[in-house]
Amino acid sequence: MSSSPRLLVVAPNWLGDSLMAQPLLTRLKAKASRVAIDVLAVPAVAPVFRRMPEVEQVYEADFRHGRFGLAERWQLGRKFSGRYAQAIILPNSWKSALVPFFASIDLRIGYVGESRYGLLNLLHPNPKKNAPRPSMARFYTQLSEAPAKTLTEELPQPRLIADPVRSIAAKVTLGLKPAERLVALCPGAEYGPAKRWPAEYFATVASKLKAMGATPIVLGTQADVPTGLTIEQLSHGAALNLCGKTTLDQAIDLIAGSSAVITNDSGLMHVAAALDIPQVALFGSSSPEHTPPLSEAARVIYLAVDCSPCYQRICPLGHFKCMRELTPERVLEDYAQLTGAAV
Ligand code: SF4
Repeated sequence: MSSSPRLLVVAPNWLGDSLMAQPLLTRLKAKASRVAIDVLAVPAVAPVFRRMPEVEQVYEADFRHGRFGLAERWQLGRKFSGRYAQAIILPNSWKSALVPFFASIDLRIGYVGESRYGLLNLLHPNPKKNAPRPSMARFYTQLSEAPAKTLTEELPQPRLIADPVRSIAAKVTLGLKPAERLVALCPGAEYGPAKRWPAEYFATVASKLKAMGATPIVLGTQADVPTGLTIEQLSHGAALNLCGKTTLDQAIDLIAGSSAVITNDSGLMHVAAALDIPQVALFGSSSPEHTPPLSEAARVIYLAVDCSPCYQRICPLGHFKCMRELTPERVLEDYAQLTGAAV
């Protein structure tokens, strides 16, 4: 049995945030290479942690959204008892800190969040309300430092392990040919419609890509199925809707096997960045400074209209200019510059 000190990280519940947590893990390993990092994650994000070289073991806990799950958290905490020297809790909620508390882990680190005095014992102050928001990656990585010390170093970019054999297997399973040149379209954004480029614009882009010899595939969750079908229909079948038809693992494998990605500011945008796949990332109500795709192969389009970023889930002004004025022609232009394709 290994005698390495072990550290438990309680993962964020959102896919994009989970990718943004990787620089923290890299930094923890750089500071103490012998430390073994395990991650406690919900099933919706667990697959990305399995592809991070810094992580030794991933525990999936299916605490249903909105449910307190006190008994389950107690049982899991007791199972972890005596196993970890410290824990870092990335979500800000009270309940997310319960498992490390029940496990009696000596050092429990996180932001104050929901007044978690006592539950945590190394508390970082919440960012001030009116201060500029740090990037999510910096926000999480700050937890590798003492609360009084500001992290100034450059951060490493998230990088997931890709496997070309798995990419081919995912293509074949989903009825695609191994040699097809895929362009992945990711029209979802769990946060809300204000982050979603219009489906008809995606359809226009898909038709053009198909005419250029690529196979546009639409990736997303079950919640994105209506959008995926709309894109498929409006593009007269140029786009293949795979929303809700893949596991997250398959979606990652398909992105890894794509020649390019066109995406909203979403979890899959961060997946594409962590796989270093060329991408055009479309920002509307959110800011590319806060959650940028961390990859040299990414091009961000952000119109910076007067009202943006508003960070609202639904456009409060109704006109949705930040996305409506971002035309398919502009996206295709950036795609062509990025990939060298002639449009
Ligand atoms: S208020 Fe402005 S930034 Fe926010 S969703 Fe509407 S158009 Fe976009």
